[in-house]
Amino acid sequence: MEPQHAWQQKRILIVEDEPSIAENIAFGLKQEGFASEWKSTGFEAVEALRSGGFLLVVLDVGLPDTTGFEVCKQARAFSQVPIIFLTARSEEIDRILGLEIGGDDYVCKPFSVRELVTRVRVVLRRGEVLPAKDKAPLVQVGPFSIDEERYQIAFQGQPLKLTRYEFRLLKVLLERPGRVFTRDQLMYRVWEEPEASGERTVDAHVKSLRAKLREVSPEIEYIQTHRGIGYSFSEE
Ligand code: CA
Repeated sequence: MEPQHAWQQKRILIVEDEPSIAENIAFGLKQEGFASEWKSTGFEAVEALRSGGFLLVVLDVGLPDTTGFEVCKQARAFSQVPIIFLTARSEEIDRILGLEIGGDDYVCKPFSVRELVTRVRVVLRRGEVLPAKDKAPLVQVGPFSIDEERYQIAFQGQPLKLTRYEFRLLKVLLERPGRVFTRDQLMYRVWEEPEASGERTVDAHVKSLRAKLREVSPEIEYIQTHRGIGYSFSEE
């Protein structure tokens, strides 16, 4: 018998209020070997995400009790799970593309299930550099190793003395090398009360992180600034 990969045992969360659409998605995913779970409201979706164990979320923007954007925002306070939005309106696409939401991709309604499943694969492949969390608590990204359980990141073998938010900020950047995060996205992924903190907070923490990295290795700038957009982690 072939060994099962960890990702094959995990589920994809479908958040969609139209049962027929949800059913089609679940069917398409199942054909590709993905198990799924269906929630029809934003409230149930956030509850399910809190319990964890999802590989990815397919998230409809138009939900009966809230918007998919709001669900994403709430989820980002405690989860880095990849999110693919289902959207029916062009103004929603603008918001997603504006990168202010924290989603990973989107598919426009009406869509083919085949197209959606392809996107699911692409998004999952992007994150594949990282082993599953429950399998290996120590994650290596270039010269960095993240020890999630101990809230520590070592750089070139030296443990960095990081504050809680510095740790979370660096971790978010490291987990997606090359991806540009806006200040807003970083705010929602790292801070517990993003509304209460200004955008300057992100800049200030990036500055202190850079200083700590420079103490270990002064030559290379790992955190790149993208003017007018935000920050990314670069291994080069
Ligand atoms: Ca809907």
